Amino acid sequence: MIKPNRHYSELKSSYLFYNIAQKTKAYTDSNPGTHLLRLGIGDVTLPLCNEVITALHKAVDDQADKSTFHGYMPECGADFYKDAVQNYYKSRGIDLENDEVFVSSGASDELGDILDLFDSDNTTLIMEPAYPAYVDANIIAGHKIIHFPSDASVGFAPVPDKDVKADLIYICSPNTPTGAVFTKEKLKLWVDYANENGSIIIFDAAYEAFIEEEGLPHSIYEIEGSRTCAIEISSLSKTAGFTGTRCGYTVIPKTLEREGMNFNAMWVRNRTTKTNGVSYILQRGGASVFTENGLKEIHENIAVYKRNAKVLMDALDELGIWYCGGKNAPYIWFRCPDGMSSWEMFDLLLNKAQIVGTPGEGFGKCGEGYFRLSMFGDPDDTKEAAKRMKELLKK
Ligand code: PLP
Repeated sequence: MIKPNRHYSELKSSYLFYNIAQKTKAYTDSNPGTHLLRLGIGDVTLPLCNEVITALHKAVDDQADKSTFHGYMPECGADFYKDAVQNYYKSRGIDLENDEVFVSSGASDELGDILDLFDSDNTTLIMEPAYPAYVDANIIAGHKIIHFPSDASVGFAPVPDKDVKADLIYICSPNTPTGAVFTKEKLKLWVDYANENGSIIIFDAAYEAFIEEEGLPHSIYEIEGSRTCAIEISSLSKTAGFTGTRCGYTVIPKTLEREGMNFNAMWVRNRTTKTNGVSYILQRGGASVFTENGLKEIHENIAVYKRNAKVLMDALDELGIWYCGGKNAPYIWFRCPDGMSSWEMFDLLLNKAQIVGTPGEGFGKCGEGYFRLSMFGDPDDTKEAAKRMKELLKK
């Protein structure tokens, strides 16, 4: 008799986005024609930049001609794609070997698939509030989970507790949902912890391109000692608007080993067994992001989202409401005023200002009392939302 993976029955239903959709629908049903200001979305809204579109078109044409046609691509990534990522890291002073870079279809796939590298008898530390997929992927993998809460006193970027022992540690910086960024000093504490305890850090760098302040780390490999304890997973989804196009990259240093097993070699074996790579067309589009013009154009799009952030940060400053994020991330995480719960905040903003955001409680218990606003919305809607929030929440 087949034995299903019993860990699926341990997954908790996530009511967050379901409840948001239900409440929003109930509101629009009773207020037909209302234009909602949607600041809950975690998806990009601007189209791919010209450099990428040109590269994708050219790659389609390549596939139409026998002399330029490509069949199966190397499972771990085409050299031109891995070179582009390698050069991107080099521009920040990080030396990677070409075969330490792996192409991917985006960060979500990798964050789950990478768990193939670890025995089910491991304990995973998840800093909360957290991207919900970390918890679920680790439950499915059978890992024991340590929910590691953080709060405003550490700017939602916690430091290790030497009494808490974990084998696998997720760090997301800039963070979903809080927008918090770990400083080099804080990351160094985690790197030292991981090396001392034989742990591995999974560093989610999906939002690194949003960092604008000098001196903040874009990559875990900016930290000394990280090549013996960290895997980095990144994506072009938010960096370059690839959420519906799908391309990303994962870095596994060849120096990453435990118990005589090399994780880079294991991942090569995993990829060559479980995938046939990412399409030639998408890798051409992805590589074009890292050209001089590609980088210039994606940062023009990011600047649009950042202007949204500025408008909302100014409103929160005027209201005297505590928040983090926004400056180096596409999310703002604010403390609900007057001790409101995060769902009370949701209801108030929806019913009195027609703004849809995301209650912090959905990202872990310690998110209660906080609220997430996304910067990926329409600029005019964001300005209107800021204006309505100022009217609604002023004392
Ligand atoms: N990691 C974080 C922190 C995210 O917020 C997201 C998407 O919202 C992802 C990973 C997944 O990105 P991708 O589109 O590359 O799968």
